[in-house]
Parts: sequence; C-alpha cells; structure tokens
Amino acid sequence: MDVGEHVIAAGLSDPGMVRSNNEDSIAYDLSHGILILADGMGGYSGGEVASGIAVQVITDYLQEHLSSLKKIGEIDNKSGFTYESLLAEQAISLANVAIKETALQDPQRHQMGTTIVVVIFYDNRMTVAHIGDSRLYRRRHQQLEQITRDHSLLQELVDKGFYTEEEARSSLNKNVLTRALGTDDAVKIDKHEEVVLPEDLYLLCTDGLSDMLLDKEIDSLLVEAGNQPEEAVMRLVSGANNAGGLDNVSVVVARVESEFSVKRAWYNKVLDWFFE
Ligand code: CA
Repeated sequence: MDVGEHVIAAGLSDPGMVRSNNEDSIAYDLSHGILILADGMGGYSGGEVASGIAVQVITDYLQEHLSSLKKIGEIDNKSGFTYESLLAEQAISLANVAIKETALQDPQRHQMGTTIVVVIFYDNRMTVAHIGDSRLYRRRHQQLEQITRDHSLLQELVDKGFYTEEEARSSLNKNVLTRALGTDDAVKIDKHEEVVLPEDLYLLCTDGLSDMLLDKEIDSLLVEAGNQPEEAVMRLVSGANNAGGLDNVSVVVARVESEFSVKRAWYNKVLDWFFE
C-alpha cells in the first residue's frame, strides 16, 4: 500500500537568525510512510554529522525493511508492538552504533549526538519513536497536542514539581538532555502507536521551534496555513525566525487526507457476524 496516496507532507530546515550552521536534519518518504527529524549536538560540526548519519541510516533501513514485511500492521506477540514499531526501534539502534563508530574515528567529535523523532504511518495507524527533546505534535479536532514527552532535565524537573510549564520556558538550562542518540552504548527509545484519523495534522519539530513559539502560537500558524503542510512549514519557520530565531529550526508537517487501512475482508466479515 502506498501511504503517499493518503497522507501529504512537507518539511523545512533553516539555520535560524543567529547561527551560521545547521545541525538539524530531516527526511520524509510517504511512499514508505516515514517522517524523520533529528537535532544534532557536539563541537567541530559534530552535530551536523550526527543528525545526518541518524537520518540517513534510519531512512535506508526503513525503506529496505518496511517493504519486505509480510503483513502490514501485524503485532508481535512477544512485545505487543507492531513489526513497524520494532523496525523503528531497530533503525534507531543501528543509527546509534553508526554515530558512535564515526565518533571513535574522529576524537574531535567524540561527544557528538542527536535527538531523533521517527514516525511511520501504516494501516490507519502510526508509530512514533523518539529520543531527546525534538517533538511530535498532533492537531486533531482543532486541538494541538504534544504527543512525545521530552527527555530533558527540565521535563524531569517539571514532572517532579520543581517548575511549572511556564517557569520552565524561561529556565536557563532547558537544553540539557537526559537522553540522546549516539552518546551511550545502549539507547532507551520511547515508542508508541496511535490510531490515525482523516484530517489529522502531524508536526515534527526541533526545539528551535518549540523554544521560540508557545504551543498556542504554533497552533495559530497551523490554522493560518489552512492546515496545509507546504504553507504550514513556511509559516512555522518564519514564525520562529520572527521571534528571534536563536537556534536552527526544522519542521515536518503531514496531513492525513483519507483512510489507509489494509483490506482485511475475511476479518471484517467475522467481526460483522460477531457484532450483528
Ligand atoms: Ca536545536
């Protein structure tokens, strides 16, 4: 099934107003149903290298393995996750190894790492897997909701009640990550699966967007863009830059145009019979 017939997307990555380099990387390939975004860190252009490796390794792996799954949306009995979710996890783990190996060969970049957000659409569902403070938002029924939870010191302090969300915004140490890709041997990946509805809008972004704009400002820009991905990515990047553009800003926006469920005729027949 070609998800690209049912979901449209656009992406934009911009250095912002202050920095000369761009350490973010993005990719999307809707024929495979994938959206990817990474925000690298580390001196001597290590950030660019790390986010670039992550996006490349994950894209290659998913393109190869998603198309060879026997069934779409099948659940692995052992983990309770779909095979698509497991592939996302494997892809991210491979990227971790690739970044670490590159870092070993280049002592100046030994501390490089990256955040990662991977979204896969399949069978009226999506998986999101992430590490770090790059985010996935969903806009559904006129409501913008943050789906991922940041792996940052600040989020931990908010969770423990040291800060309110508002105080957190003005905190100085908001960019300290508690998890990153490429910096440790083992990676702990948060992944979850959600049902997708027609007209849903999905927004992946780096902190260059979410630090510069409040959620309600992001929401207004999406509304102004008529929920259209091409228009939305331009307005979001301009919005972050108009607010100062202190960091690189990257966004990928996808809109679900129609359902993309796998036809399971016999299964539906059994259900119809069962619930008659
Ligand atoms: Ca950033």
